[in-house]
Amino acid sequence: MTNRQLFLNHVGQTSASPLCLEIVKAQGSKLYDAQGNEFIDLIGGISVCNVGHCHPAVTAAIKKQLDNYLHIMVYGELVETPQVEYATLLTANLPATLNSVFYTASGSEATEGAMKLAKRFTNRTQIISFKNSYHGSTQGALSVMGSEYWQQAFRPLLPDVLQLNYNSFDDLENISERTACVIAETVQAEAGVIAPNNEWLKALRKKCNEYGALLVLDEIQCGFGRNGTLWAFEQFGVVPDILLLGKALGGGMPLGAFVADKKIMDVLTYNPVLGHINTFGGHPVCCAAGLAAFNVLLNDKLIDGVTKSENLFLSQLKHSKIKAVRSLGLMMAIEFESYDINKKVIDMLTDVKNNSGIGVFTDWFLFAPNCLRIVPPLTISNNEINTACEKIITVLDSF
Ligand code: PMP
Repeated sequence: MTNRQLFLNHVGQTSASPLCLEIVKAQGSKLYDAQGNEFIDLIGGISVCNVGHCHPAVTAAIKKQLDNYLHIMVYGELVETPQVEYATLLTANLPATLNSVFYTASGSEATEGAMKLAKRFTNRTQIISFKNSYHGSTQGALSVMGSEYWQQAFRPLLPDVLQLNYNSFDDLENISERTACVIAETVQAEAGVIAPNNEWLKALRKKCNEYGALLVLDEIQCGFGRNGTLWAFEQFGVVPDILLLGKALGGGMPLGAFVADKKIMDVLTYNPVLGHINTFGGHPVCCAAGLAAFNVLLNDKLIDGVTKSENLFLSQLKHSKIKAVRSLGLMMAIEFESYDINKKVIDMLTDVKNNSGIGVFTDWFLFAPNCLRIVPPLTISNNEINTACEKIITVLDSF
C-alpha cells in the first residue's frame, strides 16, 4: 500500500478531500515532494514558519536542547532555561503591562487559559467575541468562534457567550459590568483578512476600560511581524490585557501562550491553587526553537521587508477574475467570485504537471472559502514572489 493510502486509512482525517501531497523536505519557502517536485509555499504552515522552514538557527537550537533534556516535569514547577529565556525576551519586546507569559502547547489552549483567567480575575461570566472570528477548535474556543455553521453540531457549548459584529461601533454598547472579557483577533484571519477600522479597536479598548472587562487580543495568526509590525496591535494604538500567541511562537514546533500582567496572571495560583495546568506547555525543545526563531526575526530585521514584499505581490495580483485583494503585510486574501473558482485555482497551482515542475502551495479561509490565502514565510524572496504571482495569473488565464 502507498503512504497516501496508509495516511487515508490510519491517520485521523479532517475532511473528505485532503491535499495528500507527500512532502519529504522543507527549506526556506519551498516544499519538496516524494517525486522530487518543488512547491513555493505561500502559507508557511499557516502563518507558522515566519522565518522560513528549517532555518539553520532554529534546527541548531533544537539539536542543542535535545542534548540537555526533553520533557522533565509538568509545566510550571521547575526553572527551565529555554522557557525563562524566551519569556524574558518576549516580554522585553512587549508593552510593560504584558510581562508574564503562561505557556501552553497550542493556540486553542492559549484561548482556553485566557478565558479562564478573565473569568477568575473579574469574577464575571460573560465572554464577548465577534462574528467570523477563529480562536481554536477545543470546546471553549469553539464557543467563542464566530460561526454557527462550525458550532451547531457540537452544542451545548459554553453558556453566556455573546457575539458581536467586528468593526461595529454600535455593537460595542453590549459590553457591560457583566463582561469578563472581550476576545478579538487584532486582524481577523479566517474571515479572509479583515483589519479593524481606524478607531474601532480604540473604541473597544475604551469600552472595556469603562466596564472593567479584560480585552483579549488573539495574535496567534497575525503576530510575529506578519502584518508589518512585530505585533499587529501596535498599528491600532491599543494594548490588550491578555495577548494570545501561537503558531509562529514555536518557530515550527508546537507552542502557545497567553501573556498578561503578573498582577492578573497570579490569580491562577490560588483559589484554587493550580488554576490552570498542563503537561507539555512550554516544552523546552519548543521554547528553544521559538527563541531561536524570534532572535532571527529580530536580528535579521525580517519585519523591515514585509511591506516591500506585500507591495510586490499586490503589483502583480491583477486579473479580471480577481474581485479584490485584501492585505495587511504578508497576510493576504485574494477574493474570487466563488469557492469553486478558488478551489480550481488552488488545485491547478499545486498540480506540478501543469506548472513545469514547480507548484504553488496555498489554501482557502474557513469563513471566506472564496478567498485564496497568502501568508508565506517573511523570508520569501522577490524571485519566489514573482514566480508564484506569474503562476497564479497563468492559471487564471487558462480557464
Ligand atoms: N486563533 C487563531 C487566530 C488561529 O488562526 C488559530 C489557528 N488557526 C488558533 C487560534 C488556534 O490555534 P491552534 O490550531 O494551535 O490550536
